[in-house]
Amino acid sequence: MTEIEVLQLSPSRISDYQQCPALYKYRAIDKLPERPGLDALRGSLVHLILEKIFTLKSSERTFENAISSTAQNWQLLIESEPDLICALDENIEFPLSKEHTISQDRLDILFAEVKTLVANYFQIEDPRRIEPESTEKLIEFDISSSLKIKGFVDRIDKSPDGWIRINDYKTGKSPNENFSAKAMFQLKFYALVIYKQMGIIPKMLRLIYLKDSQILTYEPDQRDIELVLAKVENIAEQISESKINNHWPTKVSKLCDYCYFKSICPEFTTN
Ligand code: SF4
Repeated sequence: MTEIEVLQLSPSRISDYQQCPALYKYRAIDKLPERPGLDALRGSLVHLILEKIFTLKSSERTFENAISSTAQNWQLLIESEPDLICALDENIEFPLSKEHTISQDRLDILFAEVKTLVANYFQIEDPRRIEPESTEKLIEFDISSSLKIKGFVDRIDKSPDGWIRINDYKTGKSPNENFSAKAMFQLKFYALVIYKQMGIIPKMLRLIYLKDSQILTYEPDQRDIELVLAKVENIAEQISESKINNHWPTKVSKLCDYCYFKSICPEFTTN
């Protein structure tokens, strides 16, 4: 009996396929390594600091304690993802083949940038007043024997009467009106996973933008859940067809300038 191959979809993989099927293939099928960028590095460190602050007693969740944990969290981060240091110095080879030391001056610049983002977080909310249900939690659900939906949620809050609030931290600045619906898709996707798992539609979705201390909120309803499910199933079908036909067309856009695989993409290489 042949085993059914399970397609695992997260918001980022869906976004990759929609942006460009070839990009999806490089990442999800070929699993090509990607040199981390500075934004990703900053984002990972800020996320870790905000995750760890909620492991403290509520009275200890102060800005000073968050910032004083930066160096320790940096150590934890590079122990789990050593390649991240490549983002700090373009002369470091990628993937890493030996140990490198980053100068304290360079780290001080990074830590100062992180401090600004964490300060902006504290302008938005007071973590002493929040008791999260979970932080950095993997949520997943099998839509069928061949399709799993999954993702890591930065923070889930639950009120005493059972209302669920999904929060996602962004280290960039808030999008303008034209792009806010697109940005919210990620959280609607998480709302779908939670609805499938628990039969409850989350009350509130929040995108927390740390660069400009803005929050984008949305209250999803049954229609949103149905629309996201339909979209996920539609993309899953398209990916399955791409796999069957081994057809991963390129899709050139302005985003190609930020694509790590531009140097190997047939659209930008000549024979
Ligand atoms: S450079 Fe553009 S077209 Fe090529 S893989 Fe990347 S996103 Fe797709």
